[in-house]
Amino acid sequence: MPAPFLIGAHMSVAGGLHCAIDHAVRHQFTCVQLFTHSPRVWKLPQFTEAAATTFQTARRNAGIQCVVVHAPYLPNCASTDTTLRARSCAAIAHDLRIADAIGADYFVMHPGSARGATPATAIQRVADTLLQVHAAHPWRCTFLLENTAGGGTLLGASFDELHAIIRAVRHAAPAARLGICLDTAHAHAAGMDLCSDTGIAAIFNTLIHTVGMDALRLIHCNDTPVTCGAHRDLHAHIGRGRIGARGFQLLLAQPRLRALPWILETPKDTARSDTRNANLLRQWFALGAR
Ligand SMILES: [Zn+2]
Ligand SMILES: [Zn+2]
Repeated sequence: MPAPFLIGAHMSVAGGLHCAIDHAVRHQFTCVQLFTHSPRVWKLPQFTEAAATTFQTARRNAGIQCVVVHAPYLPNCASTDTTLRARSCAAIAHDLRIADAIGADYFVMHPGSARGATPATAIQRVADTLLQVHAAHPWRCTFLLENTAGGGTLLGASFDELHAIIRAVRHAAPAARLGICLDTAHAHAAGMDLCSDTGIAAIFNTLIHTVGMDALRLIHCNDTPVTCGAHRDLHAHIGRGRIGARGFQLLLAQPRLRALPWILETPKDTARSDTRNANLLRQWFALGAR
């Protein structure tokens, strides 16, 4: 039997973490991504063993194969401000404890912003902060750094930068618990060509020579209205942006990508938006099997 398509979306946890599973079930998803709390507040969320058990039971009953926790937006592991960095470390460690308690497979974080520092210094700072996070909570899930749209002082637009961070943390956390998440909208905004065979081959080639192909563990599948290389982070419905049907069809024809979990972070204009976006990807996944 051919491997199933691992598809899901970022879901709300209003009402409790297990509500994300309920939403995923409604769309017949096999994966789900969530924030443990509002990503734009610092207050560390309350969390109980009972909530973890409820989540794990809901997940088992729903047959969800992959759970991803996305880090909140406020922490910045690259900050030059030591107080902010310490706060970021505490917030990320707390979130990782929750991710492990609910049995999440992956934890995804953006590397951060390097204002007032050279990229090399900022990368070292992210690595040092992650080592402190690991000392505070040696995570059991796999920690993924997400590629970003780049621009300004934002780190992580290239696999080179993600690789430099991972290399500096690898002695503490095993390679199996470190990797990267490829966000298609961010990659396009960062100047990567997802819309041609040669463009995708070039991306794979860079991956192989930096983090390694095995480090790629998760896809954030988002279309985007911005032009390639515009360094702007805007997400669009699948097939309605610049990556378009052709880009996603090409990506879903790649055996290495077909085996990974795909998470939608596309607009939720209506209750059907996620289903519509997922159904297009499901169709193209089926096409790619031929
Ligand atoms: Zn993200
Ligand atoms: Zn993303």
